Amino acid sequence: MGVPKDGDDTDDVLLDRDAFVLSYNPKLEDPNWVSWRLSAADIGDVERQDDFRIDQDLPGGLYRVTPKDYAKSGFDRGHLCPSKDRSTSPEVNSLTFVMTNMQPQRPELNRHRWKEMEEFTRDLAIGRQKQLYVIAGGIFDANPKTIGHGVAVPKAAYKIIVVLEHGQGAKDVTAATEVIAAIMPNSKSVTSKPWTDYRVSIDEVEAATGYDFLGRVPEDVQRVIEAKRP
Ligand code: MN
Ligand code: MN
Repeated sequence: MGVPKDGDDTDDVLLDRDAFVLSYNPKLEDPNWVSWRLSAADIGDVERQDDFRIDQDLPGGLYRVTPKDYAKSGFDRGHLCPSKDRSTSPEVNSLTFVMTNMQPQRPELNRHRWKEMEEFTRDLAIGRQKQLYVIAGGIFDANPKTIGHGVAVPKAAYKIIVVLEHGQGAKDVTAATEVIAAIMPNSKSVTSKPWTDYRVSIDEVEAATGYDFLGRVPEDVQRVIEAKRP
């Protein structure tokens, strides 16, 4: 769908791996975004590996977030690419447990509304046999609260889903393509509404993050699908 771009490339460290692609922000010590493709074939029954660990693929000189940074913080290690979305082998599942795939999430977000949207996404893949392109990340204040070494706590989490058929890509996206986006506050009160009440347009995610998403989709099509309101 194209690499998400904002006005400042200096805080986008790209890591392109088998399980997903991500952009790590060394200033925030968080991912800017994580993006992956999902279809029913990615979802299996392997157990969660739970091997949370430092991401050894980050370039030298950058701080590498460790599971200890989250210890006693009150925040969960919230997966962006979910463990269950990569569950056909222990090896591929383990790839989702690198700390660059995590953001500090309130338990009310991680274990409830965020998880429900993850389950909704897998239902599209399994129940409706769709091929999905998903992008997820955080929205940060100018001077965010931090935990551990300096891991910024996002004020909200966002997700964008593009719903396609098997074998389709950016060139197959049309003005009629189904897209789903949401912004959920990273706060206790997130459970006061169902997850679907947090749906927004992609334009709202672009405004809140400063990123242009779906850059490989023709501009006139982006304009239509990004403005679609739930
Ligand atoms: Mn989670
Ligand atoms: Mn865009």
